[in-house]
Order: sequence, then C-alpha cells, then structure tokens
Amino acid sequence: NMSVHELRDQMKQAGYHISPRARKVDNNLARTLLQKFSKKPAQEAAPVVVRVAKIQVPSFLTVKDLAVRLDQPVSAVIKKLIENGVMASINEEIDADTAGIIAAEFGTETENEKAGEDSGVRLGLGYVAEQLALEKPETLVPRPPIVAVMGHVDHGKTTLLDTIRKTNVAATESGAITQHIGAYQIVSSGKPITFLDTPGHEAFSAMRARGANVTDLIVLVVAADDSVKPQTVEVINRAKLTQTPLIVAINKIDKQDAQPERVKGDLASLGVTVEDYGGKVPAIPLSAKTGDGIDKLLEIILLTAEVEDFKANPEGATLGAVIESHLSRGQGPIATVLVQNGTLRAGDAVVVGGAYGKIRSMEDAAGKKLKIAAPATPVAIAGLSVVPETGDILRVADSLEEAKNLATLVQKQERAKRLQARTQIKADPNQKELRLIIRADVQGSLEAINETLGKIPVGGEVKLNIVSAGVGEISESDVQLADNTKSNIVGFHARLSPAAAKLGKQKKVTIDQYDVIYELVEDVTSALLSMMSAEIVETSLGRVKIKGVFRTEKDYMIVGGEVIEGKIADKKKFRVFRDKQPVGDGKIEELQQNKVEVDEVRAGQEFGIKAKVSSPIENGDVLEVFDETVKKRELINQ
Ligand code: GDP
Repeated sequence: NMSVHELRDQMKQAGYHISPRARKVDNNLARTLLQKFSKKPAQEAAPVVVRVAKIQVPSFLTVKDLAVRLDQPVSAVIKKLIENGVMASINEEIDADTAGIIAAEFGTETENEKAGEDSGVRLGLGYVAEQLALEKPETLVPRPPIVAVMGHVDHGKTTLLDTIRKTNVAATESGAITQHIGAYQIVSSGKPITFLDTPGHEAFSAMRARGANVTDLIVLVVAADDSVKPQTVEVINRAKLTQTPLIVAINKIDKQDAQPERVKGDLASLGVTVEDYGGKVPAIPLSAKTGDGIDKLLEIILLTAEVEDFKANPEGATLGAVIESHLSRGQGPIATVLVQNGTLRAGDAVVVGGAYGKIRSMEDAAGKKLKIAAPATPVAIAGLSVVPETGDILRVADSLEEAKNLATLVQKQERAKRLQARTQIKADPNQKELRLIIRADVQGSLEAINETLGKIPVGGEVKLNIVSAGVGEISESDVQLADNTKSNIVGFHARLSPAAAKLGKQKKVTIDQYDVIYELVEDVTSALLSMMSAEIVETSLGRVKIKGVFRTEKDYMIVGGEVIEGKIADKKKFRVFRDKQPVGDGKIEELQQNKVEVDEVRAGQEFGIKAKVSSPIENGDVLEVFDETVKKRELINQ
C-alpha cells in the first residue's frame, strides 16, 4: 500500500541498500520488508498469538506451507520444529503428525486434509485384505495355495523345497532376469501350488515387520532324528499368532535313528496335536532326500487348501506382494511379486512402495517369459525405477504417470518420516572437534562407515575424532566413554541396550541410530559445518581521498572527498589509511552527491558522507570502502 517511491525511501531509512535502478527485490528481502512495515511487527520472543483456530494438513507438507497455513513466520515454525527435535529447513517436508504437534504449539488445531483418494501411504498387506473384502463374492474363484516351508535349521527345508521343485518343475531355459526368485509354482495332480522358496526366517521376519503375511499354509519341517528344537517352537508360535494352518512334515524318515513317534509326542506337548493323536494337524512322515512321502504331502496341501478355500478375483484390481527384490547389474531393479488379486500383465504400469515403472519383462521361477500372471503366481518383474522392499504392495496404475505420482507420494512421505525420526548429532560450537563413538552391526558396515567418514574433508578449523569404533550393541560402557570424552554415540543397525539407553538419558549423551550410511554422513557433515564460524569475505569496492571535514560529533562525522578508484556505495564499511598506515575504520551511514542522497558514487566524482568512525578522520586520509559477504560454510581438505 505504498508507492514505489515511498517504498524506496522507507527501505533506505530502514537501512536497506538497493541500487537506484533495481526493479526487483529478492524473496528474502521482500519478506523482511513486509514484516518490518506491517503494523504488527513479528517479534520472535513475543508470546504466541493464535492466528488460525484450525487448519487442514495433507499427509505431508513443506515447512513453508505449514507456516503459510498457520499464518506464522517461517522462522517461528522452524524454531518450534527445532524445539521438538526436528531439523527441517524451509523447503523440507514434514508429515501430518509433526505438523499437528507444531500447529498445537501455535494454538492451532489440525485436521487431515482429504487429499484425493491416495495419501501416499506405503501400503501394507492389510490393504490387500481390505481390497479383497471389497470384491463381490460371485467374482471370486479358487486360487492356488501359497505355502511356506519352515522349521529348525538343518531339519531339511532346503532339501524338501529342492526335491519338490525338481520333481515337479520342468527344467526350462535359464531366465534372463534371475533363476532364484524366492518362490515357485508346481502342479500336482493337475492343481497348482505356490511355494515360498526362502528358507530361513529372515524374509518372513522382514514381511512380518511390515505387517505382511502372504502365507496361506505352513509346512513345518521336523527332523525325525532330532525332533522339536527352538525354531520349531518359533514356527508353531507364529502359526498360532497369524492363525495360519500347519502341516507337519516329519523329515528324514530314511535315517536309521528316525523316531517319528517321538516327534508327534513332542509336538503334542507343545499344543500341536497331530491327527494320529486325535488332533487336527496333519503329519506326514517323509524323506526330502529320497522323495518318499512327498506326494502325500502335496496331496494334503491341496486337501487343506480346498477346505480353507483360498480365493481371489482374477478380473479385479491387480495387487501383489513383494517377496524378494534385488538390483541386477544388467536388468536394474528386480522384484519377485506374488500376485494376490487380479491379473498382472507385462507392460502394466505399476507402483510398488516407492518404486514405479512399466513391467518390461516378467518371468516365472523356471525363467519362462510370462505375459500374464494370475492370483498366487510368483513372478520376477523388471522395469521398476528403484528396488522395492520385501513386503511392499504392488498395484497397477492407469498410466505410467499415475504410477510415478503415487510412488513419489510414498517417497515424499518416507522422507518426511525419516526426517522426523532422525535426531541430529550434537555439535558444540565451542568445541572445535566432533567426537564420535561408532557401533555397527557388522564389520562390513563399520568399514563402509569409516571409509565414508574418512572422505569428509576435515581440515583447518574443525576436526572429526573417532574416539572408538566397533561392532556390537551400544552398551553402558560406551555411554560412559561418551560422557567422559564428550562424544556422540552413533549406531548403525546397532542394538541399544536398555541400560545404555537409560544411562544415556541420565548423562544426556546423544545416541543416534542410523539405517542408511549417507544419512549418518550427512548428519556428521552438518554437525561439523555448524561448528565452523562463519567466514566473512571482504571485497574492495573503491578508494576515496578525503578533502574536507565538515563536522565531528560524538558518534558520527560528516566529511567530503573524491572517489579515486572504483566506486563507493551507501551503508558500506571502510578502513581509514593515513600515510598508507591503517588508523581506523567506519561505516557510511549516508551518501550524498551535490547535496542529494545517492546510492553510489563512481571514480572521478566528489561526494559527502555521514559516517560512523572508530577514530576521527582527517583531511588527506584515504578510505578504502569494501563490501562484506558471509561466505558459505564449507568443509575443506587440509
Ligand atoms: P535346512 O537348514 O532346514 O534347509 O536343512 P537342509 O535341507 O540344508 O538339510 C540339512 C542336512 O540334512 C543336509 O545335509 C541334508 O542333506 C540332510 N537332509 C535333509 N533331508 C534329509 C532326509 O530326508 N534324509 C536324510 N538322510 N538327510 C536329509
């Protein structure tokens, strides 16, 4: 609400220098000016004024966006974020929960914004169940059962999976994508069965951690010569927990010392009553090695599947779960997807967690190229943008563009979540050395961390000191050491013992945990940067010779002279030289030419200035006028 002229005047009065020809001001200056000229200047320390009673927030939004919605200065929002342990800059995205906390600090209520139908949440298998429940019963048709083979180590899981595969899967040409895709499908008595070919419990744990459970049936392998062991118990508990039907395979009956009856008895004492004992759990004695009894096992699997009645709609919305993924050198990201509903087609545009793409190629476990994959079919797909995670849900999108948008939403949200989860390594600006105690899960990660940290250019002002680095959990003695040496503890996939966590709280030792090396390095780097003092760079503008001293007051002088080199500008600092010796310094507070206020005076011209000086200027002094810029902090190599 002011004329350009007024604005220029007021800016000058407020101490902002802009060139007389300038037609634009940058955003930062504009914002500062708006704050300065608004009737109610925003004061940092002022008590919070509730400006908006309620706002809507999407699943994630930038700090700036939140500030706008709250009608609060960005700086105030960032301050509140920092107070809440979230280090986010103006353009970084935070999630709705964080936004809610910050909004509350400003007395503003939040409400989730209904953003389209997709809020970009990484889907869990619960989603698949929900979608399946939406399918009309008449559209559902039986689908093959998905079977997991589990049991104690060395009881014969791998052997059993291999034997089943060999006797039932026709060996075909080796696949272009990969041979071992984590699942395969066989046909027994004309009916397909899908086996999850991932012995070991890691994959299942990974899926379970994501709330995913793709398994319809569990084949519990128990060696007849070894009977029930700790992992056998684990499987039983898992089956109970997830209400997954169990089928017991009593393996290694070819062995002399096999005692199948003992296995049945031991199982009974764990609450698993096999059919022979009057219970409901089928138990099949077999030999994974000789193949004896395997037909019977397959028969029982099909029978159980019939009873359980697993169904899906092949014409419905296509959904799948990632059971394995990796990066292939020649093919890029590869994911094995178990189709849960609908039909997956080569060429489909898909979104899988934070990945998206058009399916370039689709193969089964035997390496056969497939055009379509029906429910319960495991397929390895190529063509994704990044490697998705085990347990991620695949959806078919209408177009590649839509798939990309959906994946981007997921990525954004994960980034926002990470940001929130990450605590920052504390750097004491008075301490010019950042001390770290590093604990990693395995030697390999530790080496990678050491190597990457070693690449941070630390020279000059700040130092990085790795007080201790090792493999294992973060213990109390680590916390003690951190306290004694004023170090930060950094864990990489490292367990934190409860006692150490407690002591850490007590002693106020920072313990940061990371899953991604580059994030660790990023935090270390920013901590190092924050310890550096800002460097101010001077650039000489010009030199003047003083030809007259008109007034000398306590806190300013009015002098005149001629620019002998370069130019001078209003509000700039200068140094005073007398007989080539520096004698003081000062700052131009007002610059005039022919009694008119100007911004600049060039070489060869005369001027008058009102200046603040450290000691009086004399006739004949030379002033060197310079510009000051704050140099971006930068880590340097020594
Ligand atoms: P996993 O750790 O459960 O996958 O067990 P493996 O399949 O690797 O089997 C462990 C050992 O038991 C291997 O030496 C197999 O050859 C052996 N084994 C597996 N099944 C049988 C079987 O039915 N009979 C005999 N005699 N040995 C078996």
